[in-house]
Amino acid sequence: VFRQDNVPQAPEDPLFGLMAAYRRDEFEKKVDLGIGAYRDNNAKPWVLPVVKSADDVLRKDPNLNHEYLPIAGLADFTTAAQRLILGADSPAIKEKRATSFQTISGTGAVHLGALFLSRFYPRSSNQAVYFSSPTWANHNQIFSNVHLPIRTYPYFSAQTKGLDFQGMKSTISDAPEGSIILLHACAHNPTGVDPTRDQWKEISEVIRAKKHFPFFDCAYQGFASGDLQNDAWAVQYFVSQGFEMCIAQSFAKNFGLYGERAGAFHFVTGPSPDAQDTVGRVASQLAILQRSEISNPPAYGARIASLVLNDPALFKEWEANLRTMAGRIIDMRKELRSNLEQLNGKEGSWKHITDQIGMFSFTGMTEPQVLQIRKDAHVYMTKNGRMSMAGLNTSNVEYVAKAMDKVVR
Ligand code: PMP
Repeated sequence: VFRQDNVPQAPEDPLFGLMAAYRRDEFEKKVDLGIGAYRDNNAKPWVLPVVKSADDVLRKDPNLNHEYLPIAGLADFTTAAQRLILGADSPAIKEKRATSFQTISGTGAVHLGALFLSRFYPRSSNQAVYFSSPTWANHNQIFSNVHLPIRTYPYFSAQTKGLDFQGMKSTISDAPEGSIILLHACAHNPTGVDPTRDQWKEISEVIRAKKHFPFFDCAYQGFASGDLQNDAWAVQYFVSQGFEMCIAQSFAKNFGLYGERAGAFHFVTGPSPDAQDTVGRVASQLAILQRSEISNPPAYGARIASLVLNDPALFKEWEANLRTMAGRIIDMRKELRSNLEQLNGKEGSWKHITDQIGMFSFTGMTEPQVLQIRKDAHVYMTKNGRMSMAGLNTSNVEYVAKAMDKVVR
């Protein structure tokens, strides 16, 4: 019998709890700034036109069936996904130093990487996985589930509402040699704060000096700046520096394929005479882990993404769709900031809103302020003051700015 002392009641997932509270709210002008999913200017989910085009192609294919995919997933998808994140001319691809597995979106990719590292990473007693503080809440759960010890490095400066670069660098530098360092490739969740290219270079030097192992989580490629290659810069820089590393890649946001769970896990090893042997052995173990957990990945989302990634015309259309999403969010950042600064008359006081990038903004609002704005104005955001920029639109941005101005004064 599963009694309370064996199975205590677990707390509700805070984000999904917030979504439920929003749905129950009957106030007409309520605003959802909680969930990290793109909304169009009418606050509706957006099926990317390119995804509709690819779906039409798929449906017309007389040979389409529902057979299992291979354990590593759809090969056309994983090779295209690899080219997308590493760059078509990547030395790691040319030298066959990368192996890629299709996963259950980005979450599954982080998990497969974490599971692999928990089994095979050569570890001394004092090593751990280092996350940014704060990070995507699921990182903690995923790495805890595979029993890897977890520590954090400073990331967000409450004072500047930007990067605590010195804190980040010195903690990574002081970490025991050979630690695993989890990094957000772009559009850091939840803060929206990314290192500059020069800062990335310095971070890579510290990681190299301490023989750490970088693990990139890339959930927003193309969605952040609207430019796929720009958003992959940090990953590609690390590869160019010869690091051995893991990459988790999600196609949830950039294709709007959230529920279809399309993603990939990549393991890249550095240049060496044994490189191909290394990736071969790693791939053989990944196959066993994948088989025991999901047997083989789901087909639909990967087929859609694969069609787009491998067809030049569809790819172009996708890039335009990405610019639409990223552009709308960047516009909303500008609108929110200018509304807020007009209200308080202090130019530059909300600069961090436009400095930050991607789906989220760390507003700097405190938990009491977040609860107040929910109560007074029916504006929903997470307790840490994180706002999903995609929930803003031309009809509600002024309303939200007024409500924010009121609670922060
Ligand atoms: N990593 C980060 C940092 C994320 O923000 C997300 C999406 N919230 C993911 C991974 C994975 O999402 P999904 O499993 O839907 O691809």
